[in-house]
Amino acid sequence: MTNYREKMNLTVFEPLALERPWTLATYRTIGGYDAWERILREKPPREQIVDAVKASGLRGRGGAAFPVGVKWGFMPRNSPVQKYAVCNSDESEPGTCHDRDILRFNPHALIEGMAIGGYAMNATVGYNYIRGEFLGEPVPRFEAALEEAYAAGLLGKNLKGSGIDFDLHTFVGAGAYICGEETGLLESLEGKPGKPRFKPPFPAAFGLYGAPTTINNTQSYASVPTILRKGPEWFASLGPKNSGGTIIFSVSGHVAKPGNFELPLGIPFADLLELAGGVWKGRKLKAVIPGGCSMQVVPGEVMLKTNMDYDSVKAAGSGIGSAAVIVMDETTCMVRVLERVSRFYMSESCGQCTPCREGTGWLNRMLKRILAGQGRREELGLLVDVANHIEGHTICAFGDAAAWPVQSFMKHFRHEFEYMIDHGGRSIVEERGLAAA
Ligand code: SF4
Repeated sequence: MTNYREKMNLTVFEPLALERPWTLATYRTIGGYDAWERILREKPPREQIVDAVKASGLRGRGGAAFPVGVKWGFMPRNSPVQKYAVCNSDESEPGTCHDRDILRFNPHALIEGMAIGGYAMNATVGYNYIRGEFLGEPVPRFEAALEEAYAAGLLGKNLKGSGIDFDLHTFVGAGAYICGEETGLLESLEGKPGKPRFKPPFPAAFGLYGAPTTINNTQSYASVPTILRKGPEWFASLGPKNSGGTIIFSVSGHVAKPGNFELPLGIPFADLLELAGGVWKGRKLKAVIPGGCSMQVVPGEVMLKTNMDYDSVKAAGSGIGSAAVIVMDETTCMVRVLERVSRFYMSESCGQCTPCREGTGWLNRMLKRILAGQGRREELGLLVDVANHIEGHTICAFGDAAAWPVQSFMKHFRHEFEYMIDHGGRSIVEERGLAAA
Protein backbone atom coordinates (compact mmCIF):
# COMPACT_ATOMS: atom_id res chain seq x y z
CA MET A 1 0.00 0.00 0.00
CA THR A 2 1.14 3.57 -0.71
CA ASN A 3 2.38 5.44 2.33
CA TYR A 4 -0.48 7.86 2.93
CA ARG A 5 1.09 9.75 5.83
CA GLU A 6 1.92 12.73 3.62
CA LYS A 7 -1.42 12.66 1.87
CA MET A 8 -3.63 12.83 4.95
CA ASN A 9 -5.26 15.92 6.43
CA LEU A 10 -4.12 18.33 3.72
CA THR A 11 -7.15 20.61 3.67
CA VAL A 12 -9.90 20.81 6.28
CA PHE A 13 -8.15 18.70 8.90
CA GLU A 14 -4.77 20.42 8.41
CA PRO A 15 -4.56 21.83 11.98
CA LEU A 16 -5.59 18.56 13.63
CA ALA A 17 -2.06 17.65 14.70
CA LEU A 18 -1.71 20.96 16.56
CA GLU A 19 -2.68 21.91 20.12
CA ARG A 20 -6.25 23.17 20.48
CA PRO A 21 -6.84 23.26 16.71
CA TRP A 22 -10.24 24.92 17.13
CA THR A 23 -8.82 28.22 18.42
CA LEU A 24 -8.12 31.31 16.35
CA ALA A 25 -4.50 31.38 17.56
CA THR A 26 -3.84 27.86 16.22
CA TYR A 27 -5.71 28.50 12.98
CA ARG A 28 -3.53 31.57 12.40
CA THR A 29 -0.36 29.45 12.60
CA ILE A 30 -1.32 27.57 9.41
CA GLY A 31 -2.19 30.76 7.52
CA GLY A 32 -5.79 30.89 8.67
CA TYR A 33 -7.69 34.02 7.56
CA ASP A 34 -4.82 35.02 5.24
CA ALA A 35 -7.11 34.55 2.23
CA TRP A 36 -9.95 36.51 3.83
CA GLU A 37 -7.67 39.35 4.94
CA ARG A 38 -6.20 39.58 1.45
CA ILE A 39 -9.73 39.96 0.08
CA LEU A 40 -10.45 42.67 2.66
CA ARG A 41 -7.24 44.48 1.65
CA GLU A 42 -7.35 44.08 -2.12
CA LYS A 43 -11.08 43.70 -2.86
CA PRO A 44 -10.50 41.54 -5.97
CA PRO A 45 -13.31 41.20 -8.52
CA ARG A 46 -15.88 38.75 -7.12
CA GLU A 47 -15.73 36.68 -10.32
CA GLN A 48 -12.05 36.04 -9.61
CA ILE A 49 -12.96 34.12 -6.44
CA VAL A 50 -15.76 32.25 -8.19
CA ASP A 51 -13.38 31.33 -11.02
CA ALA A 52 -10.74 30.09 -8.57
CA VAL A 53 -13.24 27.80 -6.85
CA LYS A 54 -14.41 26.56 -10.26
CA ALA A 55 -10.81 25.85 -11.29
CA SER A 56 -10.18 23.86 -8.10
CA GLY A 57 -12.81 21.30 -9.14
CA LEU A 58 -14.35 21.39 -5.65
CA ARG A 59 -17.68 19.56 -5.72
CA GLY A 60 -20.35 19.75 -3.03
CA ARG A 61 -19.38 17.35 -0.26
CA GLY A 62 -22.87 16.98 1.17
CA GLY A 63 -23.89 14.29 -1.31
CA ALA A 64 -25.05 15.88 -4.56
CA ALA A 65 -21.47 16.64 -5.74
CA PHE A 66 -22.53 19.75 -7.67
CA PRO A 67 -19.51 21.97 -8.53
CA VAL A 68 -19.29 24.63 -5.82
CA GLY A 69 -17.91 27.41 -8.04
CA VAL A 70 -20.66 26.86 -10.62
CA LYS A 71 -23.27 27.09 -7.85
CA TRP A 72 -21.76 30.36 -6.63
CA GLY A 73 -21.86 31.63 -10.20
CA PHE A 74 -25.66 31.26 -10.29
CA MET A 75 -26.09 34.00 -7.68
CA PRO A 76 -27.19 37.39 -9.06
CA ARG A 77 -24.13 39.16 -7.61
CA ASN A 78 -24.97 42.56 -9.00
CA SER A 79 -28.60 42.61 -7.90
CA PRO A 80 -29.21 45.20 -5.15
CA VAL A 81 -31.39 42.85 -3.04
CA GLN A 82 -30.16 41.15 0.13
CA LYS A 83 -28.44 37.84 -0.60
CA TYR A 84 -27.61 35.02 1.80
CA ALA A 85 -24.84 32.42 2.16
CA VAL A 86 -26.12 29.43 4.11
CA CYS A 87 -24.19 26.46 5.41
CA ASN A 88 -25.74 23.06 5.82
CA SER A 89 -24.32 21.54 9.03
CA ASP A 90 -27.44 19.45 9.51
CA GLU A 91 -25.38 16.30 9.08
CA SER A 92 -27.77 13.35 9.37
CA GLU A 93 -26.97 10.91 6.59
CA PRO A 94 -26.46 7.57 8.36
CA GLY A 95 -22.77 6.73 8.50
CA THR A 96 -21.65 10.33 8.04
CA CYS A 97 -19.73 11.99 10.87
CA HIS A 98 -17.25 14.46 9.38
CA ASP A 99 -19.10 17.78 9.54
CA ARG A 100 -19.42 17.52 13.31
CA ASP A 101 -15.64 17.07 13.48
CA ILE A 102 -15.08 20.17 11.36
CA LEU A 103 -17.25 22.12 13.81
CA ARG A 104 -15.36 20.59 16.75
CA PHE A 105 -11.82 20.79 15.46
CA ASN A 106 -11.58 23.45 12.75
CA PRO A 107 -14.57 25.81 12.99
CA HIS A 108 -12.52 28.77 11.78
CA ALA A 109 -12.00 27.14 8.37
CA LEU A 110 -15.77 27.04 7.99
CA ILE A 111 -16.18 30.64 9.14
CA GLU A 112 -13.46 31.85 6.77
CA GLY A 113 -14.91 29.78 3.91
CA MET A 114 -18.36 31.25 4.46
CA ALA A 115 -17.00 34.79 4.62
CA ILE A 116 -15.12 34.22 1.34
CA GLY A 117 -18.22 32.66 -0.21
CA GLY A 118 -20.30 35.59 1.02
CA TYR A 119 -17.91 38.02 -0.67
CA ALA A 120 -17.80 36.01 -3.91
CA MET A 121 -21.61 35.95 -4.10
CA ASN A 122 -22.06 39.48 -2.69
CA ALA A 123 -24.04 38.06 0.24
CA THR A 124 -23.53 40.04 3.43
CA VAL A 125 -25.38 37.71 5.80
CA GLY A 126 -24.75 34.04 6.49
CA TYR A 127 -26.41 31.35 8.56
CA ASN A 128 -24.98 28.07 9.68
CA TYR A 129 -27.82 25.57 10.14
CA ILE A 130 -26.48 23.01 12.63
CA ARG A 131 -28.07 19.70 13.51
CA GLY A 132 -29.92 19.90 16.84
CA GLU A 133 -28.14 16.86 18.26
CA PHE A 134 -24.79 18.66 18.02
CA LEU A 135 -25.36 20.77 21.12
CA GLY A 136 -22.70 18.84 23.08
CA GLU A 137 -19.41 19.99 21.56
CA PRO A 138 -19.83 21.09 17.93
CA VAL A 139 -22.24 24.00 18.56
CA PRO A 140 -20.33 25.54 21.52
CA ARG A 141 -17.03 25.23 19.61
CA PHE A 142 -18.51 26.90 16.55
CA GLU A 143 -20.06 29.69 18.60
CA ALA A 144 -16.83 30.29 20.52
CA ALA A 145 -15.01 30.55 17.18
CA LEU A 146 -17.64 33.02 15.93
CA GLU A 147 -17.01 35.19 19.00
CA GLU A 148 -13.26 35.07 18.37
CA ALA A 149 -13.74 36.04 14.74
CA TYR A 150 -15.99 38.97 15.64
CA ALA A 151 -13.54 40.13 18.34
CA ALA A 152 -10.69 40.00 15.81
CA GLY A 153 -12.63 42.16 13.35
CA LEU A 154 -12.99 39.31 10.84
CA LEU A 155 -16.78 39.34 10.87
CA GLY A 156 -19.20 42.25 11.10
CA LYS A 157 -19.57 45.55 9.29
CA ASN A 158 -16.99 47.54 7.33
CA LEU A 159 -14.35 44.94 8.09
CA LYS A 160 -10.85 46.43 8.57
CA GLY A 161 -12.17 49.63 6.96
CA SER A 162 -12.79 47.83 3.66
CA GLY A 163 -16.47 48.67 3.33
CA ILE A 164 -17.13 44.90 3.21
CA ASP A 165 -19.77 43.47 5.56
CA PHE A 166 -20.33 39.87 6.57
CA ASP A 167 -22.42 38.79 9.54
CA LEU A 168 -22.71 35.13 10.43
CA HIS A 169 -25.32 33.52 12.69
CA THR A 170 -25.86 30.05 14.13
CA PHE A 171 -29.23 28.31 13.80
CA VAL A 172 -29.75 25.02 15.62
CA GLY A 173 -32.23 22.63 14.00
CA ALA A 174 -34.73 20.39 15.75
CA GLY A 175 -33.50 17.03 14.48
CA ALA A 176 -35.23 16.13 11.20
CA TYR A 177 -33.25 14.38 8.47
CA ILE A 178 -35.18 16.17 5.75
CA CYS A 179 -33.87 19.56 6.94
CA GLY A 180 -30.60 18.48 5.32
CA GLU A 181 -32.37 18.90 1.96
CA GLU A 182 -31.55 22.48 1.03
CA THR A 183 -35.06 23.84 0.57
CA GLY A 184 -36.35 21.93 3.61
CA LEU A 185 -33.50 23.60 5.47
CA LEU A 186 -34.60 27.04 4.23
CA GLU A 187 -38.20 26.42 5.32
CA SER A 188 -36.94 25.40 8.76
CA LEU A 189 -34.67 28.45 8.93
CA GLU A 190 -37.76 30.57 8.27
CA GLY A 191 -39.43 28.96 11.29
CA LYS A 192 -41.70 26.58 9.35
CA PRO A 193 -41.83 22.76 9.18
CA GLY A 194 -38.85 21.57 7.11
CA LYS A 195 -40.77 20.45 4.03
CA PRO A 196 -38.81 20.68 0.76
CA ARG A 197 -40.02 23.13 -1.87
CA PHE A 198 -40.87 22.47 -5.50
CA LYS A 199 -37.99 23.47 -7.78
CA PRO A 200 -37.68 25.57 -9.85
CA PRO A 201 -37.33 28.25 -8.65
CA PHE A 202 -33.97 27.26 -7.21
CA PRO A 203 -32.59 28.98 -4.11
CA ALA A 204 -30.21 31.20 -6.11
CA ALA A 205 -33.35 32.91 -7.46
CA PHE A 206 -35.78 32.38 -4.57
CA GLY A 207 -34.16 31.22 -1.36
CA LEU A 208 -34.26 32.36 2.24
CA TYR A 209 -37.17 34.81 2.73
CA GLY A 210 -37.56 34.76 -1.06
CA ALA A 211 -34.09 36.27 -1.57
CA PRO A 212 -31.15 34.84 -3.59
CA THR A 213 -29.44 32.22 -1.44
CA THR A 214 -26.73 29.61 -1.84
CA ILE A 215 -26.51 26.62 0.46
CA ASN A 216 -23.29 24.65 0.69
CA ASN A 217 -22.21 21.80 2.88
CA THR A 218 -19.85 22.36 5.85
CA GLN A 219 -16.89 20.60 4.25
CA SER A 220 -17.41 22.46 0.97
CA TYR A 221 -17.14 25.89 2.61
CA ALA A 222 -14.34 24.75 4.94
CA SER A 223 -12.22 23.63 1.95
CA VAL A 224 -12.25 27.09 0.33
CA PRO A 225 -9.63 28.91 2.48
CA THR A 226 -6.99 26.25 1.74
CA ILE A 227 -7.89 26.31 -1.96
CA LEU A 228 -7.22 30.06 -2.09
CA ARG A 229 -4.12 29.79 0.09
CA LYS A 230 -2.44 26.90 -1.73
CA GLY A 231 -3.96 27.53 -5.14
CA PRO A 232 -6.82 25.93 -7.09
CA GLU A 233 -4.34 24.04 -9.27
CA TRP A 234 -2.77 22.40 -6.22
CA PHE A 235 -6.20 21.29 -4.99
CA ALA A 236 -7.32 20.02 -8.40
CA SER A 237 -4.08 18.08 -8.85
CA LEU A 238 -4.67 16.03 -5.69
CA GLY A 239 -7.32 13.86 -7.30
CA PRO A 240 -8.16 12.51 -10.76
CA LYS A 241 -10.10 14.44 -13.42
CA ASN A 242 -13.60 15.42 -12.21
CA SER A 243 -12.66 14.55 -8.62
CA GLY A 244 -10.20 17.21 -7.50
CA GLY A 245 -9.00 17.68 -3.96
CA THR A 246 -9.35 15.89 -0.70
CA ILE A 247 -12.48 14.51 0.92
CA ILE A 248 -13.17 13.19 4.40
CA PHE A 249 -14.20 9.54 4.31
CA SER A 250 -16.20 8.48 7.37
CA VAL A 251 -15.49 4.77 7.58
CA SER A 252 -17.82 2.77 9.81
CA GLY A 253 -19.22 -0.72 10.24
CA HIS A 254 -17.17 -3.88 10.39
CA VAL A 255 -13.67 -2.39 10.39
CA ALA A 256 -11.03 -2.56 13.10
CA LYS A 257 -10.44 1.22 13.27
CA PRO A 258 -13.51 3.20 12.22
CA GLY A 259 -13.12 6.96 11.90
CA ASN A 260 -12.71 9.98 9.65
CA PHE A 261 -9.90 9.94 7.08
CA GLU A 262 -9.17 13.04 5.00
CA LEU A 263 -7.49 11.81 1.82
CA PRO A 264 -7.21 12.73 -1.85
CA LEU A 265 -10.12 11.50 -3.94
CA GLY A 266 -9.25 8.55 -6.12
CA ILE A 267 -7.42 6.41 -3.58
CA PRO A 268 -8.14 2.70 -4.01
CA PHE A 269 -10.91 1.47 -1.73
CA ALA A 270 -8.60 -1.39 -0.69
CA ASP A 271 -6.13 1.16 0.71
CA LEU A 272 -8.86 3.05 2.54
CA LEU A 273 -10.02 -0.21 4.07
CA GLU A 274 -6.49 -0.98 5.20
CA LEU A 275 -6.13 2.49 6.76
CA ALA A 276 -9.30 1.72 8.71
CA GLY A 277 -7.65 -1.43 10.07
CA GLY A 278 -9.19 -3.85 7.56
CA VAL A 279 -12.29 -5.95 8.04
CA TRP A 280 -12.50 -6.69 11.75
CA LYS A 281 -12.00 -10.06 13.44
CA GLY A 282 -10.23 -11.45 10.38
CA ARG A 283 -13.51 -11.84 8.51
CA LYS A 284 -14.19 -11.48 4.80
CA LEU A 285 -15.63 -8.38 3.17
CA LYS A 286 -19.18 -8.87 1.95
CA ALA A 287 -20.53 -5.49 0.87
CA VAL A 288 -19.97 -1.75 1.07
CA ILE A 289 -22.23 1.28 0.90
CA PRO A 290 -19.67 3.84 -0.26
CA GLY A 291 -21.53 7.12 0.21
CA GLY A 292 -24.01 7.03 3.08
CA CYS A 293 -27.06 4.82 3.27
CA SER A 294 -28.85 6.74 0.49
CA MET A 295 -26.40 5.30 -2.02
CA GLN A 296 -26.46 1.89 -3.66
CA VAL A 297 -24.80 -1.09 -1.99
CA VAL A 298 -21.85 -2.62 -3.88
CA PRO A 299 -20.53 -6.19 -3.46
CA GLY A 300 -17.21 -6.32 -1.62
CA GLU A 301 -15.28 -7.92 -4.50
CA VAL A 302 -16.31 -5.04 -6.80
CA MET A 303 -15.33 -2.39 -4.24
CA LEU A 304 -11.90 -3.98 -3.79
CA LYS A 305 -11.21 -3.11 -7.45
CA THR A 306 -12.67 0.40 -7.24
CA ASN A 307 -11.02 3.77 -6.65
CA MET A 308 -12.76 6.27 -4.39
CA ASP A 309 -13.55 9.06 -6.84
CA TYR A 310 -16.83 10.21 -8.33
CA ASP A 311 -16.48 8.52 -11.73
CA SER A 312 -15.05 5.21 -10.47
CA VAL A 313 -17.66 4.72 -7.77
CA LYS A 314 -20.38 5.61 -10.27
CA ALA A 315 -18.98 2.99 -12.65
CA ALA A 316 -19.20 0.48 -9.79
CA GLY A 317 -22.94 1.22 -9.57
CA SER A 318 -23.09 3.65 -6.66
CA GLY A 319 -21.98 7.15 -5.64
CA ILE A 320 -19.50 8.90 -3.34
CA GLY A 321 -22.49 10.74 -1.82
CA SER A 322 -21.47 12.05 1.60
CA ALA A 323 -18.36 9.79 1.62
CA ALA A 324 -19.73 7.74 4.48
CA VAL A 325 -18.24 4.33 3.78
CA ILE A 326 -20.24 1.59 5.51
CA VAL A 327 -18.41 -1.74 5.55
CA MET A 328 -20.24 -5.05 6.03
CA ASP A 329 -18.53 -8.36 6.74
CA GLU A 330 -19.57 -11.88 5.74
CA THR A 331 -21.78 -12.32 8.84
CA THR A 332 -24.14 -9.54 7.75
CA CYS A 333 -27.72 -10.49 6.93
CA MET A 334 -28.61 -8.23 4.01
CA VAL A 335 -32.36 -8.60 4.60
CA ARG A 336 -31.93 -7.27 8.12
CA VAL A 337 -29.80 -4.36 6.88
CA LEU A 338 -32.32 -3.35 4.23
CA GLU A 339 -35.20 -3.55 6.71
CA ARG A 340 -33.29 -1.21 9.05
CA VAL A 341 -32.47 1.20 6.23
CA SER A 342 -36.06 1.22 4.97
CA ARG A 343 -37.35 1.87 8.50
CA PHE A 344 -35.18 4.99 8.58
CA TYR A 345 -36.70 6.35 5.36
CA MET A 346 -40.22 5.50 6.47
CA SER A 347 -39.66 7.45 9.70
CA GLU A 348 -38.02 10.46 8.08
CA SER A 349 -40.31 11.03 5.06
CA CYS A 350 -41.86 14.47 5.42
CA GLY A 351 -45.08 13.11 3.92
CA GLN A 352 -45.69 15.67 1.16
CA CYS A 353 -45.46 13.25 -1.80
CA THR A 354 -47.69 10.19 -2.00
CA PRO A 355 -45.05 7.87 -3.58
CA CYS A 356 -42.59 8.64 -0.78
CA ARG A 357 -45.05 8.82 2.13
CA GLU A 358 -46.90 5.63 1.20
CA GLY A 359 -44.12 3.80 -0.66
CA THR A 360 -41.56 3.92 2.15
CA GLY A 361 -44.13 2.36 4.51
CA TRP A 362 -44.95 -0.38 1.97
CA LEU A 363 -41.29 -1.22 1.54
CA ASN A 364 -40.71 -1.50 5.24
CA ARG A 365 -43.82 -3.57 5.91
CA MET A 366 -42.91 -6.07 3.17
CA LEU A 367 -39.37 -6.41 4.52
CA LYS A 368 -40.67 -6.90 8.04
CA ARG A 369 -42.91 -9.69 6.79
CA ILE A 370 -39.98 -11.43 5.10
CA LEU A 371 -37.98 -11.23 8.34
CA ALA A 372 -40.94 -12.65 10.25
CA GLY A 373 -41.04 -15.66 7.92
CA GLN A 374 -44.27 -14.51 6.27
CA GLY A 375 -42.86 -13.28 2.97
CA ARG A 376 -43.87 -14.55 -0.47
CA ARG A 377 -41.60 -14.85 -3.51
CA GLU A 378 -43.84 -12.57 -5.60
CA GLU A 379 -43.28 -9.78 -3.08
CA LEU A 380 -39.67 -9.44 -4.20
CA GLY A 381 -40.89 -8.15 -7.58
CA LEU A 382 -43.30 -5.88 -5.75
CA LEU A 383 -40.48 -4.47 -3.61
CA VAL A 384 -38.58 -3.39 -6.72
CA ASP A 385 -41.78 -2.16 -8.36
CA VAL A 386 -42.65 0.07 -5.41
CA ALA A 387 -39.07 1.40 -5.29
CA ASN A 388 -39.20 2.13 -9.05
CA HIS A 389 -42.42 4.07 -8.56
CA ILE A 390 -40.86 6.20 -5.84
CA GLU A 391 -37.64 6.99 -7.73
CA GLY A 392 -37.95 10.16 -9.78
CA HIS A 393 -41.57 10.79 -8.81
CA THR A 394 -41.15 13.01 -5.78
CA ILE A 395 -40.51 16.64 -4.89
CA CYS A 396 -37.05 16.04 -3.49
CA ALA A 397 -34.21 13.53 -3.79
CA PHE A 398 -35.26 11.77 -0.59
CA GLY A 399 -37.50 9.54 -2.73
CA ASP A 400 -34.52 8.39 -4.80
CA ALA A 401 -32.54 7.85 -1.59
CA ALA A 402 -35.29 5.57 -0.28
CA ALA A 403 -35.50 3.63 -3.55
CA TRP A 404 -31.81 3.09 -4.40
CA PRO A 405 -30.94 0.84 -1.45
CA VAL A 406 -33.90 -1.43 -2.24
CA GLN A 407 -33.05 -1.65 -5.94
CA SER A 408 -29.36 -2.34 -5.31
CA PHE A 409 -29.85 -4.83 -2.46
CA MET A 410 -32.25 -6.75 -4.68
CA LYS A 411 -29.86 -6.57 -7.63
CA HIS A 412 -26.85 -7.96 -5.75
CA PHE A 413 -28.29 -9.98 -2.87
CA ARG A 414 -31.70 -11.20 -4.05
CA HIS A 415 -30.72 -14.77 -3.23
CA GLU A 416 -30.62 -13.87 0.47
CA PHE A 417 -34.20 -12.60 0.34
CA GLU A 418 -35.32 -15.70 -1.56
CA TYR A 419 -33.57 -17.95 0.93
CA MET A 420 -35.26 -16.28 3.86
CA ILE A 421 -38.70 -16.54 2.23
CA ASP A 422 -38.15 -20.21 1.41
CA HIS A 423 -36.90 -21.01 4.92
CA GLY A 424 -39.54 -19.33 7.04
CA GLY A 425 -37.45 -16.31 8.08
CA ARG A 426 -34.11 -18.08 8.55
CA SER A 427 -31.17 -16.08 7.24
CA ILE A 428 -28.66 -17.50 4.76
CA VAL A 429 -25.80 -16.42 7.05
CA GLU A 430 -27.21 -18.61 9.83
CA GLU A 431 -27.41 -21.49 7.39
CA ARG A 432 -23.74 -21.03 6.52
CA GLY A 433 -22.85 -20.85 10.20
CA LEU A 434 -21.65 -17.27 9.77
CA ALA A 435 -24.14 -15.39 11.94
CA ALA A 436 -22.34 -12.95 14.24
CA ALA A 437 -22.28 -13.95 17.87
FE1 SF4 B 1 -41.08 14.84 1.57
FE2 SF4 B 1 -40.39 12.43 0.63
FE3 SF4 B 1 -41.57 14.20 -0.95
FE4 SF4 B 1 -39.06 14.67 -0.14
S1 SF4 B 1 -39.72 12.98 -1.44
S2 SF4 B 1 -40.73 16.13 -0.23
S3 SF4 B 1 -39.17 13.77 1.93
S4 SF4 B 1 -42.46 13.23 0.88
